[in-house]
Amino acid sequence: MSMPTAIHWLTRDFRLGDNPALAAAARGPMRSVFFIDAQLLAQGAASRWRLERALRDFDAALRQRGDAGVTILRGEPHELLPRLVAALGAAEVHQSDWPCPAMRASQQRVDQALRAQGAQLVLHPGHLLIHPRLLRTKGGGAYRVFTPFARALRGIGADRPGAGAPPRIPTAPGAGWPQSVALDGLDLAPDLHGGRAVLDAHALPAGEAAALARLDDFLDRASEYEARRDRPDIDATSGLSEALALGEISPRSVWAIAEARRRDNPAAADGIAKFMSELCWREFAWHLLIEFPQMAERAWRPEWAEFPWRGDNADFDRWRQARTGIALVDAGLREMRVTGRMHNRVRMVVASWLTKHLLTDWRLGLAHFQDSLSDWDPAANAMNWQWVAGCGPDAAPFFRIFNPERQAERFDPRGDYRRAWLGPGAAGALAYDATLPPDWRGKGRPPADEGTAAIAAGRQRALDAHAGFRDA
Ligand SMILES: Cc1cc2nc3c(=O)[nH]c(=O)nc-3n(C[C@H](O)[C@H](O)[C@H](O)COP(=O)(O)OP(=O)(O)OC[C@H]3O[C@@H](n4cnc5c(N)ncnc54)[C@H](O)[C@@H]3O)c2cc1C
Repeated sequence: MSMPTAIHWLTRDFRLGDNPALAAAARGPMRSVFFIDAQLLAQGAASRWRLERALRDFDAALRQRGDAGVTILRGEPHELLPRLVAALGAAEVHQSDWPCPAMRASQQRVDQALRAQGAQLVLHPGHLLIHPRLLRTKGGGAYRVFTPFARALRGIGADRPGAGAPPRIPTAPGAGWPQSVALDGLDLAPDLHGGRAVLDAHALPAGEAAALARLDDFLDRASEYEARRDRPDIDATSGLSEALALGEISPRSVWAIAEARRRDNPAAADGIAKFMSELCWREFAWHLLIEFPQMAERAWRPEWAEFPWRGDNADFDRWRQARTGIALVDAGLREMRVTGRMHNRVRMVVASWLTKHLLTDWRLGLAHFQDSLSDWDPAANAMNWQWVAGCGPDAAPFFRIFNPERQAERFDPRGDYRRAWLGPGAAGALAYDATLPPDWRGKGRPPADEGTAAIAAGRQRALDAHAGFRDA
């Protein structure tokens, strides 16, 4: 029996293994399509730059399996997919579900357009560990607190990964099939700041094979994870966030591989368990975003809508330009501009400085991270910004204010991390300078004692604002 022709709508699932959408399409002749649409162009520059690397790798992987490669098209999926379906005589379009608000809206438009011509959109799991519907409180509601959420998730267990890479991916012939935008010369982030070459030079290897190798290497050294994961001066974490954000590896595969290693290597069991708990944080973030799709725009706790955040201001500008005078904050912001990444502990300190000491709206920080992070993830970014700002569910209380100097003493005890990004002539500092637009150049950082004075003053200002807000 010959299998029907189908389309794989590639979005954020740049992998062959445990990709149920691809597997479903590849049961018969298929085509994989990727759209340069309004949704993609609205994403941040660094995240588009990183996505392009994933796209190139995935295209090569498809070709190795006998496929013609990804067809890249400029335009809106709901306008183009009906034509593509007609060109192939296909009845189904398969997509890995990426349940963020913009994609939900796009899926609805596509589904409507396809139904009008007797075809349909089929959504597949794989982006999350488990279907969010299965994780409900006894009362049937969504979890708002991480600990019981993670307990419930561990109790049910993550879904098992689906099939490995299909051995062959047969290309569907199609007379009216459009020409793909060429990968050669494709630039998905032409608006990237001047540091494209710098980002390229600092990039981690992209693609599925690299993600699997990274996971394997990380699990070998996971016994140190718990003790060292907060240290930005040590390479102690997995570095898998970009790969997870782009679906170069599925969380279910990461979970299953980690679980097996945890059993085989008791010495690393605690470290691996902690790592799996971080995957639960990722899951929690998506769970929250599905429940509250406005999480990137509105405070989770409605009473926080009235908090007197400062809007765009000169302090925010200095923060963006890594010129706050607080060494750990400036080092982190430089790291992000040069590499697209920032250590988690430093992200918390940098975000806390903006929202507490500078009392600046968390949405301004969120937007800057969204534009600058190569691992940008709409759920993790929004949940963490709200967590640090104090307005999210299960968030740090507002009055708990990080002292960035104490954080630095504790987590960068020798000053290696700060020196790497701020030290005169340090490679990180030189790379950072190379990324600067002309109007950011030559503006030094304030002297350290100014920074120290700003810590006490900012803390007091934050506490006063919070007290006034509570009493109002
Ligand atoms: C203000 C702020 C913004 C953030 N924005 C993003 C973002 O846009 N994209 C993103 O992937 N992470 C974000 N994080 C979470 C975290 O900083 C990164 O996931 C982590 O630094 C990635 O490094 P790693 O892969 O080595 O992590 P590991 O320590 O090896 O953790 C393994 C995986 O668990 C997940 N994870 C770890 N910590 C968190 C967390 N706090 N929340 C959600 N998932 C987590 C990631 O997928 C990560 O790859 C943000 C954190 C803060 C404080």
